[in-house]
Amino acid sequence: MPNNLLEKYDLTKFQYRINWEITNICNFRCNYCINPQTESKNKERNFTTEEILRFFDSTKKQWLILITGGEPFMYPNFTEVCQALTQTHSLQITTNLSSPNIYQFADSINPSKIFILSASYHYTERNRLGQTDDFISKCKYLKGKGFPVLVNYVAHPDTMDRMESDLMMFTDLGIETFVLLLRGKVNNKIYPDAYTKKEFEMIEKYLLDVDTERKAAFNNLNFYSHFCDAGKSYLFMDSLGNISRCSTIQNRFGNLFDNNFHLNDNAEPCTVKNCNDVYCGLAAVKDKKATKFKMWLSRKL
Ligand code: SF4
Ligand code: SF4
Repeated sequence: MPNNLLEKYDLTKFQYRINWEITNICNFRCNYCINPQTESKNKERNFTTEEILRFFDSTKKQWLILITGGEPFMYPNFTEVCQALTQTHSLQITTNLSSPNIYQFADSINPSKIFILSASYHYTERNRLGQTDDFISKCKYLKGKGFPVLVNYVAHPDTMDRMESDLMMFTDLGIETFVLLLRGKVNNKIYPDAYTKKEFEMIEKYLLDVDTERKAAFNNLNFYSHFCDAGKSYLFMDSLGNISRCSTIQNRFGNLFDNNFHLNDNAEPCTVKNCNDVYCGLAAVKDKKATKFKMWLSRKL
């Protein structure tokens, strides 16, 4: 059951976590993509494996590096970067599995250093490209090599009829799955509001956490004034190497290249009304709330 996945893949097992949007480039064109994509390399900076390793090792901490995109396997020498990082750190990678380099990755990376291999099954795009079997083959190969493959599936109206049978196919292969709510406009309907009651009852069986997903989808995951470890032991890094407190509050904490990176000594209050970091935010936020005076100070910083 998806709810158990949250316990199994508990992010707080790792003291230091960084969410790295390694590239904006993606080879797919999913019409529901929430991240702007580009074919342009102008907005990208490609670091060498040595530069990346030097940065992470210079922090003298062991990180869980949650790598997203775009499509991470579009990053130059991505498998080599993973090989280097997994000598010390652990990785979570969200990928559409389209790269032929997946096999090289599976053959050369220690699966115990991969916390989650989050494989996004974009059925419509895969079907358009005639590559549905390719996704399934790669999932099976990775699973056979001992990687923790977790298939995610967007509950899109175009694939609603087949969603459950697709999920069952992966379950039959021993591969865990979960569903993400669609956000955005399709056929002049705004999702997730446009799901029917029947559709939502079906979808919620496969959500990681119904309450969290609902709040996140409706931009209402509100931890305002709660102390949060974002900036202290959780960070966000964009494709230019800019480091910020989290993906929601993108204030500068330094840059991969600048060598001026710092971490806060203490948890600080959250200053926004919606946390886009969702499960990373949940893992970092605390019950304790700041006083009004502390909030006033925090907003001035
Ligand atoms: S694979 Fe992911 S990043 Fe690429 S277009 Fe689809 S949703 Fe966007
Ligand atoms: S609760 Fe979310 S938005 Fe607020 S500081 Fe923490 S990670 Fe950032």
